[in-house]
Amino acid sequence: MKYFALFGNPVSHSISPRLHNSALQGLGLNGVYGRILLEQGSDIIAKFKKYNLSGANITVPFKESVLTLCDELDTVAADIGSINTLINQNGKIKGYNTDAPGFMMAIAEFGKINKALILGAGGTAKALAYILASNGVQVHILNRSNKKDQFINYQFYTHSNFTCEDYDLVINTTSAGLCSDELPCDEMILKDIFANSKFAFDVIYNKLTPFLSLARKMGLKSKDGKDMLLYQAVLAFNLFYSNKFNTDKITKLMHKAFEL
Ligand code: NDP
Repeated sequence: MKYFALFGNPVSHSISPRLHNSALQGLGLNGVYGRILLEQGSDIIAKFKKYNLSGANITVPFKESVLTLCDELDTVAADIGSINTLINQNGKIKGYNTDAPGFMMAIAEFGKINKALILGAGGTAKALAYILASNGVQVHILNRSNKKDQFINYQFYTHSNFTCEDYDLVINTTSAGLCSDELPCDEMILKDIFANSKFAFDVIYNKLTPFLSLARKMGLKSKDGKDMLLYQAVLAFNLFYSNKFNTDKITKLMHKAFEL
């Protein structure tokens, strides 16, 4: 029997266990995926070992703090500075980031992106800025507070000094709209951005946020974060099982879990 878990706070809302258990069951594997609520990120590795886990995922707010606790880091995770997946590799705990490649898979249907604007400057913004830039995309960041020092390789704006340009893609990585009907920035600024953009993507999933609603009203092709969630889970599952299983098959099995 193999054991897997999601660590975070909160974890009760997450559908990650449903996605992974659907794949485990569908592939006839002797494994189970649960969730572990933590008060402190510093406990993750001790709990990982205590429960004899083969692999785990990390959600808010521990994605950055767990970085220094791993025995080894995948180079992409180290460069981004945040991890969402842990694997037990022969007794050593290795950290990976599958959010970033999962996001790239989710936006593939938009076609070639040359320039993108990311709203927000948290852990997710860092991962997406890194992977977009690695794929040759020019990245600008717009955040309510000044975190310019954390985004030195990118054009960084706050709401007060923003100058709108043409963007292929606008991505909301802020939590605005998650539990409220707030937009990530002033409506006039966002209307200006959308008037000069082609595609909109919100990392929040299973909800028509005010950001997505406005994008649709203004005629942009748009997506929520459901596919990103799906693909980061597929990639994590593949890491758990050393890429032994067909990706399309895992995707189909996990996709079914959204309908449960
Ligand atoms: P962080 O807490 O690290 O960052 C949140 C960012 O949102 C900060 O830049 C913050 O601004 C900004 N922000 C928060 N509230 C508001 C608001 N009311 N108006 C404007 N800006 C705001 O969070 P993460 O980056 O870890 O996660 C962000 C979101 O991404 C979450 O909703 C999470 O669920 C989602 N997510 C989805 C994934 C998926 O697979 N679909 C994967 C990973 C994350 P400031 O810096 O000024 O505080």
